[in-house]
Amino acid sequence: MAAIETRECETEGCCKEAKLQCPTCIKLGIQGSYFCSQECFKGSWVTHKLLHKKAKEDQTQDEGKNCMDKDINTDPWPGYRYTGKLRPHYPLTPMRPVPGDIQRPDYADHPLGMSEAEQSLKGTSQIKILSPEDIEGMVVVCKLAREVLDIAALMVKPGITTEEIDHTVHLACTARNCYPSPLNYYNFPKSCCTSVNEVICHGIPDRRVLQDGDILNVDITVYHNGYHGDLNETFFVGDVDEAAKKLVQTTYECLMQSIDSVKPGIRYRELGNIIQKHAQAHGFSVVRSYCGHGIHKLFHTAPNVPHYAKNKAVGVMKPGHVFTIEPMICEGGWQDETWPDGWTAVTRDGKRSAQFEHTLLVTETGCDILTRRLDDNGRAHFMNQL
Ligand SMILES: [Zn+2]
Ligand SMILES: [Zn+2]
Repeated sequence: MAAIETRECETEGCCKEAKLQCPTCIKLGIQGSYFCSQECFKGSWVTHKLLHKKAKEDQTQDEGKNCMDKDINTDPWPGYRYTGKLRPHYPLTPMRPVPGDIQRPDYADHPLGMSEAEQSLKGTSQIKILSPEDIEGMVVVCKLAREVLDIAALMVKPGITTEEIDHTVHLACTARNCYPSPLNYYNFPKSCCTSVNEVICHGIPDRRVLQDGDILNVDITVYHNGYHGDLNETFFVGDVDEAAKKLVQTTYECLMQSIDSVKPGIRYRELGNIIQKHAQAHGFSVVRSYCGHGIHKLFHTAPNVPHYAKNKAVGVMKPGHVFTIEPMICEGGWQDETWPDGWTAVTRDGKRSAQFEHTLLVTETGCDILTRRLDDNGRAHFMNQL
Protein backbone atom coordinates (compact mmCIF):
# COMPACT_ATOMS: atom_id res chain seq x y z
CA MET A 1 0.00 0.00 0.00
CA ALA A 2 1.34 3.44 -0.92
CA ALA A 3 2.03 6.00 1.78
CA ILE A 4 -0.22 9.08 1.95
CA GLU A 5 1.77 12.28 1.79
CA THR A 6 1.39 14.69 4.75
CA ARG A 7 -0.24 17.96 3.67
CA GLU A 8 0.50 21.49 4.78
CA CYS A 9 -2.05 24.17 5.64
CA GLU A 10 -2.78 26.35 2.60
CA THR A 11 -2.78 29.60 4.55
CA GLU A 12 0.20 31.58 3.38
CA GLY A 13 3.01 31.50 5.92
CA CYS A 14 1.38 28.71 7.98
CA CYS A 15 3.34 25.48 7.58
CA LYS A 16 1.41 23.36 10.08
CA GLU A 17 0.08 19.95 9.16
CA ALA A 18 -3.42 20.18 7.59
CA LYS A 19 -6.21 18.39 9.42
CA LEU A 20 -9.36 19.57 7.64
CA GLN A 21 -10.53 20.14 4.10
CA CYS A 22 -12.96 22.82 2.84
CA PRO A 23 -16.41 21.11 2.56
CA THR A 24 -17.51 23.28 -0.40
CA CYS A 25 -14.36 22.33 -2.32
CA ILE A 26 -15.10 18.64 -1.74
CA LYS A 27 -18.62 19.16 -3.11
CA LEU A 28 -17.35 21.07 -6.17
CA GLY A 29 -14.56 18.60 -6.83
CA ILE A 30 -11.77 21.16 -6.29
CA GLN A 31 -8.48 19.44 -5.54
CA GLY A 32 -6.55 20.44 -2.40
CA SER A 33 -7.96 23.10 0.00
CA TYR A 34 -6.46 21.71 3.24
CA PHE A 35 -6.23 23.78 6.44
CA CYS A 36 -4.70 23.17 9.87
CA SER A 37 -7.59 24.68 11.83
CA GLN A 38 -10.94 26.53 11.68
CA GLU A 39 -9.01 29.72 12.48
CA CYS A 40 -6.76 29.42 9.42
CA PHE A 41 -9.75 28.43 7.25
CA LYS A 42 -11.74 31.53 8.36
CA GLY A 43 -8.66 33.74 7.94
CA SER A 44 -8.28 32.61 4.31
CA TRP A 45 -11.99 32.79 3.51
CA VAL A 46 -12.05 36.07 1.50
CA THR A 47 -9.54 34.80 -1.06
CA HIS A 48 -10.48 31.12 -0.79
CA LYS A 49 -14.16 31.62 -1.73
CA LEU A 50 -13.05 33.01 -5.12
CA LEU A 51 -12.01 29.43 -5.96
CA HIS A 52 -15.61 28.31 -5.47
CA LYS A 53 -16.93 31.09 -7.69
CA LYS A 54 -14.49 30.19 -10.49
CA ALA A 55 -15.34 26.47 -10.28
CA LYS A 56 -19.08 27.19 -10.46
CA GLU A 57 -18.61 29.40 -13.54
CA ASP A 58 -16.57 26.68 -15.28
CA GLN A 59 -19.27 24.14 -14.52
CA THR A 60 -22.06 26.21 -16.07
CA GLN A 61 -19.90 26.72 -19.17
CA ASP A 62 -19.31 22.97 -19.46
CA GLU A 63 -23.03 22.31 -19.10
CA GLY A 64 -23.65 24.74 -21.95
CA LYS A 65 -21.14 22.85 -24.08
CA ASN A 66 -22.71 19.48 -23.27
CA CYS A 67 -26.05 20.91 -24.28
CA MET A 68 -24.58 21.89 -27.66
CA ASP A 69 -23.06 18.42 -28.04
CA LYS A 70 -26.48 16.87 -27.47
CA ASP A 71 -27.85 19.20 -30.12
CA ILE A 72 -25.48 17.60 -32.66
CA ASN A 73 -27.23 14.56 -34.05
CA THR A 74 -24.62 12.01 -35.12
CA ASP A 75 -27.13 9.32 -36.04
CA PRO A 76 -29.75 10.75 -38.39
CA TRP A 77 -30.20 7.42 -40.24
CA PRO A 78 -31.13 4.65 -37.81
CA GLY A 79 -30.15 1.31 -39.25
CA TYR A 80 -27.46 2.57 -41.64
CA ARG A 81 -24.20 0.68 -41.18
CA TYR A 82 -21.31 3.11 -41.42
CA THR A 83 -18.21 1.77 -43.13
CA GLY A 84 -15.77 3.65 -40.85
CA LYS A 85 -15.61 5.87 -37.79
CA LEU A 86 -16.87 9.08 -39.39
CA ARG A 87 -20.44 10.24 -38.64
CA PRO A 88 -22.53 13.13 -39.94
CA HIS A 89 -23.11 15.95 -37.43
CA TYR A 90 -26.59 17.38 -37.91
CA PRO A 91 -28.53 19.63 -38.09
CA LEU A 92 -26.97 21.57 -40.97
CA THR A 93 -27.20 25.34 -41.02
CA PRO A 94 -29.76 26.53 -43.62
CA MET A 95 -28.73 26.99 -47.26
CA ARG A 96 -26.88 30.30 -47.55
CA PRO A 97 -28.30 32.95 -49.88
CA VAL A 98 -26.20 34.46 -52.67
CA PRO A 99 -26.56 38.23 -53.25
CA GLY A 100 -29.02 38.97 -56.07
CA ASP A 101 -26.53 40.84 -58.24
CA ILE A 102 -24.31 37.76 -58.69
CA GLN A 103 -24.85 35.80 -61.92
CA ARG A 104 -26.41 32.38 -61.23
CA PRO A 105 -26.10 29.08 -63.14
CA ASP A 106 -29.38 27.61 -64.46
CA TYR A 107 -29.70 24.99 -61.70
CA ALA A 108 -29.47 27.55 -58.86
CA ASP A 109 -33.23 28.18 -58.94
CA HIS A 110 -34.43 24.76 -60.15
CA PRO A 111 -36.45 22.93 -57.46
CA LEU A 112 -34.38 19.77 -57.95
CA GLY A 113 -31.19 21.66 -58.75
CA MET A 114 -31.19 20.23 -62.27
CA SER A 115 -29.20 21.96 -65.01
CA GLU A 116 -31.32 22.05 -68.19
CA ALA A 117 -28.21 22.94 -70.19
CA GLU A 118 -26.36 19.86 -68.93
CA GLN A 119 -29.39 17.59 -69.34
CA SER A 120 -29.82 18.60 -72.99
CA LEU A 121 -26.28 17.39 -73.77
CA LYS A 122 -26.52 14.20 -71.68
CA GLY A 123 -25.09 11.19 -73.49
CA THR A 124 -23.19 13.18 -76.10
CA SER A 125 -19.45 12.61 -76.14
CA GLN A 126 -18.57 15.51 -78.40
CA ILE A 127 -15.99 17.74 -76.73
CA LYS A 128 -16.33 21.49 -77.17
CA ILE A 129 -13.33 23.41 -78.52
CA LEU A 130 -13.29 26.69 -76.66
CA SER A 131 -13.08 30.03 -78.47
CA PRO A 132 -10.47 32.61 -77.39
CA GLU A 133 -13.29 34.41 -75.55
CA ASP A 134 -14.30 31.20 -73.74
CA ILE A 135 -10.66 30.53 -72.84
CA GLU A 136 -10.32 34.02 -71.34
CA GLY A 137 -13.45 33.33 -69.26
CA MET A 138 -11.95 30.05 -68.03
CA VAL A 139 -8.59 31.67 -67.18
CA VAL A 140 -10.37 34.26 -65.03
CA VAL A 141 -12.76 31.88 -63.22
CA CYS A 142 -10.05 29.30 -62.50
CA LYS A 143 -7.86 32.00 -60.95
CA LEU A 144 -10.77 33.03 -58.73
CA ALA A 145 -11.42 29.40 -57.72
CA ARG A 146 -7.75 29.05 -56.76
CA GLU A 147 -7.96 32.16 -54.57
CA VAL A 148 -10.96 30.68 -52.74
CA LEU A 149 -9.21 27.33 -52.16
CA ASP A 150 -6.11 29.12 -50.80
CA ILE A 151 -8.34 30.95 -48.30
CA ALA A 152 -9.97 27.67 -47.23
CA ALA A 153 -6.50 26.13 -46.80
CA LEU A 154 -5.61 28.74 -44.17
CA MET A 155 -8.55 27.62 -42.02
CA VAL A 156 -7.74 23.92 -41.84
CA LYS A 157 -6.76 23.05 -38.26
CA PRO A 158 -7.99 20.93 -35.36
CA GLY A 159 -11.05 22.39 -33.59
CA ILE A 160 -12.72 24.03 -36.58
CA THR A 161 -15.88 22.62 -38.18
CA THR A 162 -16.26 21.92 -41.89
CA GLU A 163 -19.33 24.18 -41.81
CA GLU A 164 -17.11 27.06 -40.69
CA ILE A 165 -14.84 26.40 -43.68
CA ASP A 166 -17.92 26.32 -45.93
CA HIS A 167 -19.12 29.68 -44.55
CA THR A 168 -15.76 31.30 -45.30
CA VAL A 169 -15.73 29.72 -48.79
CA HIS A 170 -19.22 31.10 -49.42
CA LEU A 171 -18.17 34.63 -48.42
CA ALA A 172 -14.92 34.39 -50.40
CA CYS A 173 -16.95 33.44 -53.51
CA THR A 174 -19.51 36.22 -53.22
CA ALA A 175 -16.77 38.78 -52.42
CA ARG A 176 -15.30 37.87 -55.85
CA ASN A 177 -18.64 38.11 -57.65
CA CYS A 178 -18.80 34.34 -57.94
CA TYR A 179 -21.66 31.92 -57.34
CA PRO A 180 -20.39 28.85 -55.39
CA SER A 181 -21.14 26.18 -58.04
CA PRO A 182 -21.99 23.26 -55.69
CA LEU A 183 -24.79 25.26 -53.99
CA ASN A 184 -28.12 23.65 -55.01
CA TYR A 185 -26.43 21.62 -57.79
CA TYR A 186 -28.83 18.66 -57.79
CA ASN A 187 -29.86 20.08 -54.39
CA PHE A 188 -26.38 19.86 -52.84
CA PRO A 189 -26.91 21.93 -49.65
CA LYS A 190 -23.52 23.68 -49.28
CA SER A 191 -21.04 25.89 -51.14
CA CYS A 192 -18.14 23.42 -51.26
CA CYS A 193 -17.41 19.73 -50.60
CA THR A 194 -15.40 18.72 -47.52
CA SER A 195 -14.31 15.08 -47.48
CA VAL A 196 -12.73 13.71 -44.29
CA ASN A 197 -10.70 10.46 -43.98
CA GLU A 198 -12.81 7.62 -45.49
CA VAL A 199 -14.92 10.08 -47.49
CA ILE A 200 -13.88 9.75 -51.14
CA CYS A 201 -15.64 12.90 -52.37
CA HIS A 202 -18.82 15.01 -52.08
CA GLY A 203 -18.72 15.24 -48.28
CA ILE A 204 -21.23 17.78 -46.97
CA PRO A 205 -19.81 20.43 -44.61
CA ASP A 206 -21.45 19.98 -41.19
CA ARG A 207 -20.97 20.63 -37.45
CA ARG A 208 -18.20 18.05 -37.02
CA VAL A 209 -15.05 19.47 -35.48
CA LEU A 210 -11.85 18.56 -37.31
CA GLN A 211 -9.62 16.26 -35.24
CA ASP A 212 -5.84 16.26 -35.03
CA GLY A 213 -4.70 13.54 -37.46
CA ASP A 214 -7.62 13.84 -39.91
CA ILE A 215 -7.03 14.31 -43.63
CA LEU A 216 -9.46 16.73 -45.28
CA ASN A 217 -10.16 17.39 -48.94
CA VAL A 218 -11.76 20.72 -49.80
CA ASP A 219 -13.24 20.86 -53.31
CA ILE A 220 -14.01 24.32 -54.69
CA THR A 221 -15.94 25.21 -57.84
CA VAL A 222 -16.95 28.78 -58.61
CA TYR A 223 -19.12 30.27 -61.36
CA HIS A 224 -18.25 33.67 -62.80
CA ASN A 225 -19.31 35.47 -65.96
CA GLY A 226 -20.88 32.27 -67.33
CA TYR A 227 -17.99 29.84 -66.64
CA HIS A 228 -17.11 27.28 -63.93
CA GLY A 229 -13.59 26.65 -62.52
CA ASP A 230 -12.92 23.56 -60.39
CA LEU A 231 -10.06 22.37 -58.15
CA ASN A 232 -9.41 20.52 -54.92
CA GLU A 233 -6.60 19.68 -52.51
CA THR A 234 -6.23 17.34 -49.55
CA PHE A 235 -4.87 18.89 -46.35
CA PHE A 236 -3.39 17.53 -43.13
CA VAL A 237 -5.28 18.47 -39.96
CA GLY A 238 -2.55 18.96 -37.33
CA ASP A 239 -0.14 16.01 -37.15
CA VAL A 240 -1.03 13.04 -39.34
CA ASP A 241 0.52 9.57 -39.38
CA GLU A 242 3.11 8.45 -41.93
CA ALA A 243 0.56 6.34 -43.83
CA ALA A 244 -1.61 9.44 -44.41
CA LYS A 245 1.43 11.37 -45.66
CA LYS A 246 2.27 8.59 -48.11
CA LEU A 247 -1.34 8.37 -49.34
CA VAL A 248 -1.67 12.13 -49.90
CA GLN A 249 1.78 12.49 -51.50
CA THR A 250 1.12 9.57 -53.87
CA THR A 251 -2.30 10.94 -54.83
CA TYR A 252 -0.75 14.30 -55.67
CA GLU A 253 1.91 12.55 -57.78
CA CYS A 254 -0.84 10.63 -59.61
CA LEU A 255 -2.46 13.94 -60.60
CA MET A 256 0.78 15.66 -61.60
CA GLN A 257 2.12 12.68 -63.60
CA SER A 258 -1.12 12.41 -65.54
CA ILE A 259 -1.06 16.19 -66.22
CA ASP A 260 2.49 15.79 -67.62
CA SER A 261 1.06 13.56 -70.35
CA VAL A 262 -1.67 15.98 -71.49
CA LYS A 263 -1.16 17.28 -75.05
CA PRO A 264 -2.99 17.17 -78.40
CA GLY A 265 -3.37 13.66 -79.79
CA ILE A 266 -3.37 11.81 -76.43
CA ARG A 267 -6.50 9.72 -75.76
CA TYR A 268 -8.48 10.56 -72.62
CA ARG A 269 -8.50 6.87 -71.75
CA GLU A 270 -4.70 6.93 -71.37
CA LEU A 271 -4.78 9.08 -68.21
CA GLY A 272 -6.20 6.24 -66.09
CA ASN A 273 -3.31 3.96 -67.05
CA ILE A 274 -0.76 6.48 -65.74
CA ILE A 275 -2.70 7.12 -62.54
CA GLN A 276 -3.35 3.49 -61.65
CA LYS A 277 0.22 2.44 -62.40
CA HIS A 278 1.59 4.96 -59.90
CA ALA A 279 -1.09 4.29 -57.26
CA GLN A 280 -0.61 0.51 -57.50
CA ALA A 281 3.17 0.83 -57.23
CA HIS A 282 2.58 2.28 -53.75
CA GLY A 283 -0.02 -0.33 -52.78
CA PHE A 284 -3.04 1.93 -53.29
CA SER A 285 -6.25 1.54 -55.32
CA VAL A 286 -8.12 3.91 -57.65
CA VAL A 287 -11.79 4.88 -57.22
CA ARG A 288 -13.89 3.88 -60.24
CA SER A 289 -17.28 5.51 -59.56
CA TYR A 290 -16.17 9.16 -59.87
CA CYS A 291 -14.37 10.71 -62.82
CA GLY A 292 -12.84 13.93 -64.11
CA HIS A 293 -14.98 15.92 -66.53
CA GLY A 294 -15.20 18.58 -69.18
CA ILE A 295 -15.98 22.00 -67.69
CA HIS A 296 -16.67 25.47 -69.08
CA LYS A 297 -20.18 26.94 -69.37
CA LEU A 298 -21.37 23.61 -67.91
CA PHE A 299 -20.18 22.27 -64.54
CA HIS A 300 -19.95 18.65 -65.75
CA THR A 301 -19.85 17.69 -69.45
CA ALA A 302 -17.84 15.71 -72.03
CA PRO A 303 -15.18 14.38 -71.87
CA ASN A 304 -15.64 11.80 -69.13
CA VAL A 305 -12.21 11.19 -67.60
CA PRO A 306 -11.89 7.92 -65.62
CA HIS A 307 -8.83 7.58 -63.37
CA TYR A 308 -8.50 3.77 -63.51
CA ALA A 309 -6.53 1.66 -66.00
CA LYS A 310 -7.98 0.03 -69.14
CA ASN A 311 -11.02 2.31 -69.17
CA LYS A 312 -13.09 2.90 -72.31
CA ALA A 313 -13.25 6.71 -72.23
CA VAL A 314 -14.08 8.34 -75.56
CA GLY A 315 -12.11 11.19 -77.12
CA VAL A 316 -8.71 12.50 -78.13
CA MET A 317 -7.21 15.71 -76.69
CA LYS A 318 -7.28 18.78 -78.93
CA PRO A 319 -6.15 22.38 -78.38
CA GLY A 320 -9.00 24.30 -76.76
CA HIS A 321 -10.36 21.39 -74.71
CA VAL A 322 -10.86 22.15 -71.01
CA PHE A 323 -11.34 19.36 -68.47
CA THR A 324 -10.45 18.24 -64.96
CA ILE A 325 -8.32 15.38 -63.69
CA GLU A 326 -9.18 14.53 -60.06
CA PRO A 327 -7.94 11.08 -59.00
CA MET A 328 -9.32 9.61 -55.76
CA ILE A 329 -6.80 7.14 -54.33
CA CYS A 330 -7.53 4.71 -51.48
CA GLU A 331 -5.44 3.09 -48.74
CA GLY A 332 -7.54 -0.07 -49.06
CA GLY A 333 -10.03 -1.17 -51.72
CA TRP A 334 -11.48 1.06 -54.45
CA GLN A 335 -15.12 0.11 -53.78
CA ASP A 336 -17.38 2.95 -52.67
CA GLU A 337 -20.85 3.44 -51.26
CA THR A 338 -22.98 6.50 -50.61
CA TRP A 339 -24.43 7.68 -47.30
CA PRO A 340 -28.24 8.03 -47.11
CA ASP A 341 -27.76 11.80 -47.67
CA GLY A 342 -27.32 10.85 -51.34
CA TRP A 343 -23.93 12.59 -51.61
CA THR A 344 -21.23 11.48 -49.22
CA ALA A 345 -19.17 8.82 -51.04
CA VAL A 346 -17.18 6.65 -48.63
CA THR A 347 -14.85 3.67 -49.01
CA ARG A 348 -16.60 0.36 -48.39
CA ASP A 349 -13.78 -0.77 -46.10
CA GLY A 350 -13.74 2.47 -44.12
CA LYS A 351 -10.08 3.16 -44.98
CA ARG A 352 -8.92 6.61 -46.01
CA SER A 353 -9.06 8.16 -49.47
CA ALA A 354 -7.30 11.27 -50.81
CA GLN A 355 -7.85 13.45 -53.87
CA PHE A 356 -6.35 16.33 -55.86
CA GLU A 357 -7.90 18.17 -58.80
CA HIS A 358 -6.92 20.73 -61.42
CA THR A 359 -8.77 22.30 -64.36
CA LEU A 360 -6.61 22.03 -67.49
CA LEU A 361 -6.57 23.73 -70.90
CA VAL A 362 -5.08 21.72 -73.76
CA THR A 363 -2.65 23.95 -75.71
CA GLU A 364 -0.76 23.38 -79.02
CA THR A 365 2.16 21.78 -77.19
CA GLY A 366 0.82 20.50 -73.88
CA CYS A 367 -1.49 22.05 -71.32
CA ASP A 368 -1.96 25.01 -69.00
CA ILE A 369 -2.97 24.26 -65.40
CA LEU A 370 -5.64 26.95 -65.11
CA THR A 371 -6.09 26.36 -61.37
CA ARG A 372 -2.35 26.32 -60.56
CA ARG A 373 -1.25 27.86 -57.29
CA LEU A 374 0.50 31.18 -57.76
CA ASP A 375 2.44 31.02 -54.43
CA ASP A 376 5.13 28.54 -53.39
CA ASN A 377 6.06 27.65 -56.98
CA GLY A 378 2.65 26.03 -57.49
CA ARG A 379 3.26 23.39 -54.82
CA ALA A 380 0.20 21.97 -53.05
CA HIS A 381 -0.45 23.18 -49.49
CA PHE A 382 0.24 19.81 -47.81
CA MET A 383 3.86 19.98 -48.98
CA ASN A 384 4.52 22.75 -46.45
CA GLN A 385 3.30 20.39 -43.71
CA LEU A 386 5.61 17.44 -44.50
ZN1 LIG B 1 -14.46 18.31 -60.72
ZN1 LIG C 1 -13.92 19.75 -57.80
